[in-house]
Amino acid sequence: MLELRVPKVPDDRSQVGPGLERETVLPDPAKYDPPGLEVTQSEPVEIGRISGKVLSSPGVSRMTERADVVVLGGGIVGSAISYHLARCRCGPVVTIDLAPSGPRDGATSASAGILSYPGWDAWDLAIVQETYAEYRTLSEMLGLGGFRTNGGVRVTACEEGVRWFELISQVLGHHGIESEGVGPDRLGELLPGGVPEGARAGLYTPGDATVSAPELASAYLRLARGSGGDFVQTPIPPRIDSSEGRWRVELADRVVETRSLALATGAWTKRLLEGLGHPLPLAPFRTQACRLRPRPLAREFPTLHDIDQNHYVAPTDQGRLVAGDGTERIETGPDRADRAADSAFLERMSECVRAGFPEFESVQVEMGWAGVCVASPDRYPLVGRVPGTSGLFVATGFNGFGVMRAAGLARHLVVGILEDRWEGLGPADPGRFPTPDSPFDPRPAFPLDTTADAEGAARRLEYRVPAPQEIPALSEEVLYGSVGSAVEVDRLRLPEISEWFGPFLPLFMKEALRTHGRVVYAEINGEVRGIQLQGSVESVGSFFTRTRPIAEHFLSQMGPHGAYSERSWLPGGTPIDVLAADLRDWPGAGTIRNVVRIAQLEDLPALRTLVREVSGPGEDSWFDTLPRPEETVFLCEIDHRVVGMSGLTRVGPYARGHSFLVHPRYRGLGIGTDLLLSRMMWLARTGGRFVVSEIYDGNTASHLAASKAGMAVVGRMYQYRPNQPR
Ligand SMILES: Cc1cc2nc3c(=O)[nH]c(=O)nc-3n(C[C@H](O)[C@H](O)[C@H](O)COP(=O)(O)OP(=O)(O)OC[C@H]3O[C@@H](n4cnc5c(N)ncnc54)[C@H](O)[C@@H]3O)c2cc1C
Repeated sequence: MLELRVPKVPDDRSQVGPGLERETVLPDPAKYDPPGLEVTQSEPVEIGRISGKVLSSPGVSRMTERADVVVLGGGIVGSAISYHLARCRCGPVVTIDLAPSGPRDGATSASAGILSYPGWDAWDLAIVQETYAEYRTLSEMLGLGGFRTNGGVRVTACEEGVRWFELISQVLGHHGIESEGVGPDRLGELLPGGVPEGARAGLYTPGDATVSAPELASAYLRLARGSGGDFVQTPIPPRIDSSEGRWRVELADRVVETRSLALATGAWTKRLLEGLGHPLPLAPFRTQACRLRPRPLAREFPTLHDIDQNHYVAPTDQGRLVAGDGTERIETGPDRADRAADSAFLERMSECVRAGFPEFESVQVEMGWAGVCVASPDRYPLVGRVPGTSGLFVATGFNGFGVMRAAGLARHLVVGILEDRWEGLGPADPGRFPTPDSPFDPRPAFPLDTTADAEGAARRLEYRVPAPQEIPALSEEVLYGSVGSAVEVDRLRLPEISEWFGPFLPLFMKEALRTHGRVVYAEINGEVRGIQLQGSVESVGSFFTRTRPIAEHFLSQMGPHGAYSERSWLPGGTPIDVLAADLRDWPGAGTIRNVVRIAQLEDLPALRTLVREVSGPGEDSWFDTLPRPEETVFLCEIDHRVVGMSGLTRVGPYARGHSFLVHPRYRGLGIGTDLLLSRMMWLARTGGRFVVSEIYDGNTASHLAASKAGMAVVGRMYQYRPNQPR
């Protein structure tokens, strides 16, 4: 097994990185309202009700200000709209969201984050493609959003489903998106559980991805704010009225006037529009999802959508699964809907994973939740000007698929608001319904059931969506610095920059410093977004980041022996498997045949001899730092000779296995399996919960021993070498 080691960095202690491009498009001041500011004495403001009694704040002095656009709603759609407004430098923009409160939280915080190419028609596809591209850029630029391309597989057992796949692949192919019709054999290769029961056919789209929708929403807002946008959270919904072509949005302490008000208020939009006297055909409905922990933990696989049963299963972080379905087909009130998952739903999802993925020996529910989505009668969204109004815009009606369309729709809405050009939003025109207040039932499902309509057929292949204007993405500058002492390591606030090694990063940094190595950190907007390590005694460095510019900088700085990275940033890295197990599901050890014990201080010379004999001189230098409380070494002795060892770094319930070796002369006796089983047994008995380790691809013996001890491959990391052909 490998150890993570510590890389070489430049000698200067602190340096400013290359930075990222800054926005250069300037607003045209003549086009927008001046950001006027006046102070007025207000009427008493309603701040809540108890038992029907109105609670109001006394008349207070409130600032009245003007904004070019006010966006209500800070979910993924409202945040993306704010970002695109900021990107166009349109003038003052105020985004108002309700403060998080649990029952009133939006759908974005509940999203499973699955992006799949639905392929309904050319318009929809263009919106989804634009959204993908933007999420990928944002995610790689800021290290927020967790964009991962894992592919997607849709399966069906019925003739209608097969016809639907043919139609989609025609649309996808026409627009240059890769897809592959798959039969049972190929399904067996793509999915860890093989062919789902009864599945007749499948459609594989390798470009499908997953994201963290709340992270993307906060990234959008951060960039919008960094460009001068104002973001306000309020405990009570603002009061809205209009006069003389202006919208007045009243908060407890300020009033914002604007000519353009955009409602991105998710499930609350229906009620808001009714209150303003402009109803639209919308039906909020409850939908549920859950996070499951399989045993063994799952490796990445394409998101599975069963279009007959209308459920999905996707891999998520740390070997877990996220699963859900379209759920309820009745309208609900957004404040009424229960945000906890039903036990029947959780049972249904666990059962569907157990049946569809026989590879998993057990499945535990870790978490279940529900959110409220919004249906429209024809399942296309409603994004554009609210009919019969001036300056009132809406973005809603995503039928449970708003994340995969938010960025593209937000950009087109901003073009509409600022330029009065709506050609990018034709099928989403909120004015397309002759009877906007007719009730209807939500029909959440992945395929669109209107494949036969003439209008749909006409735009299926040919709708021309205007290409995005060439405006550079908003971005933030990266700063680099180095850490000089353990105290400084403890002071660093480390967000999640590593999926598998997060709890160990402070230890890795301290170890690098202890061995006279270097630790460099990269910061964006005051937050650490990358760490690079290089020890002076060890040759291969390592770095941890979710941000591409930082990864590229670290790669350009790697020492002569290269660096380990948890992600594949460039082609040509040598893959290394990451294995893990959750001790809570560990079934317990079988028989241990060889004598294994925990090493004592006096065993160090024998252990060093073993390492030198097996791995060569110089490979035992990490023993210099022992003993350390977080390190435990297990050894196996035969005839008073140490013939095998495995190390374990422990941080609370988390452990990382390393330095696993068996003397070549003693292989084939089950010593490796016994060492790893004993390690698991000790961890399980001492409150360990999670164990991770890395094994080179070709090391079959280590893979076998680890799998016998209950660990499974959950991901990959990569070793890069300088001047390696890419
Ligand atoms: C369980 C579940 C799983 C899902 N999975 C996926 C998926 O895998 N892929 C996908 O594409 N989509 C998925 N969706 C759908 C997706 O989450 C939504 O379509 C999307 O998040 C809608 O975003 P939004 O910004 O329109 O609404 P929301 O996220 O609901 O945001 C609306 C915001 O408006 C605020 N607000 C309400 N009233 C007011 C007011 N008066 N003033 C100011 N602010 C107000 C709310 O507080 C809220 O923050 C899922 C949804 C759920 C519930």
